[in-house]
Amino acid sequence: MGTYHGGVTASKRVLLAKPRGYCAGVDRAVQTVEEALKLYGAPIYVRKEIVHNKHVVSTLQAKGAIFVEENAEVPEGAIVVFSAHGVAPEVHEQAKGRNLRAIDATCPLVTKVHQEARRFAADDYDILLIGHEGHEEVIGTTGEAPAHIQLVDGPDGVDKVTVRDPSKVVWLSQTTLSVDETLETVARLKRRLPLLMSPPSDDICYATSNRQDAVKAMAPNCDLVLVVGSQNSSNSQRLREVAVDAGASAGYLIDYASEIQDSWLEGATTVGVTSGASVPDELVMEVLDFLAARDFTDVAEVTTAQEKLVFSLPQELKRDMKAQATARAAEVAKTLS
Ligand code: SF4
Repeated sequence: MGTYHGGVTASKRVLLAKPRGYCAGVDRAVQTVEEALKLYGAPIYVRKEIVHNKHVVSTLQAKGAIFVEENAEVPEGAIVVFSAHGVAPEVHEQAKGRNLRAIDATCPLVTKVHQEARRFAADDYDILLIGHEGHEEVIGTTGEAPAHIQLVDGPDGVDKVTVRDPSKVVWLSQTTLSVDETLETVARLKRRLPLLMSPPSDDICYATSNRQDAVKAMAPNCDLVLVVGSQNSSNSQRLREVAVDAGASAGYLIDYASEIQDSWLEGATTVGVTSGASVPDELVMEVLDFLAARDFTDVAEVTTAQEKLVFSLPQELKRDMKAQATARAAEVAKTLS
């Protein structure tokens, strides 16, 4: 695989965005379910899709994970994993009420937004949460302080905002939004509320912005951009929009290579490929194979950032893993003595 330096176009080439695919939060959440299956055995219940990706969910189902919508569907006393998108405090309470052993795979960067929401609510701020109505992350964050939070669903949601005290208002956001659209929403909010405070640090996470930057760098040179990701994945949807806004003639969101239509490739000489933060890279490799079979054999990576962030597994899981390792070591020592 070569490196893209811009300029002359080879016939039938692929530009491959980097970074793409798994982020640290998704990697941790998927590993959490895998390790829980190994440690406790199947079935392991998972509330909501652990991450928004069809392939990841069906792979974990095959290994013994059972995905449910609510805690009420989990048998009393069983283990339940909460997804990377985060949950409202009442979901933890429901789990306690049913004696469930909860393992919280909420991404630490989502937890950070929850903490901000709690802190500003405790200081009696009105909180304007920029995000998509009905998204699990937004539901979870709002649940931290429902009386203080109102949703602003994009720039057009700005006019509906009402606040108690215009000098005590802060905006927060979902982690997986379009960076540019959010800047526009904030600019419009600030025109209405000049004293609006910004979050202490960016809520849109590093993975979301890095993947959008890589797409922006390659899209102007692409006839079309293929984004591997599921329809319910917010950050994948945004990548498709960003690609088209940045100059690609077309953008398509696909779960699998088999969904690519040959008509999309007619007349195309440069195809951009990227993937959402919840997508395993094997699915991207299948897309490259599909394209190679149609003479798109020249693949160049467009690299705009290097990512090294890794999150450790949830404490409650690590504690049980450690206890099991200690018990096994003791058994081995007993056998040998
Ligand atoms: S996209 Fe960002 S916030 Fe969401 S899981 Fe990945 S790192 Fe965490």
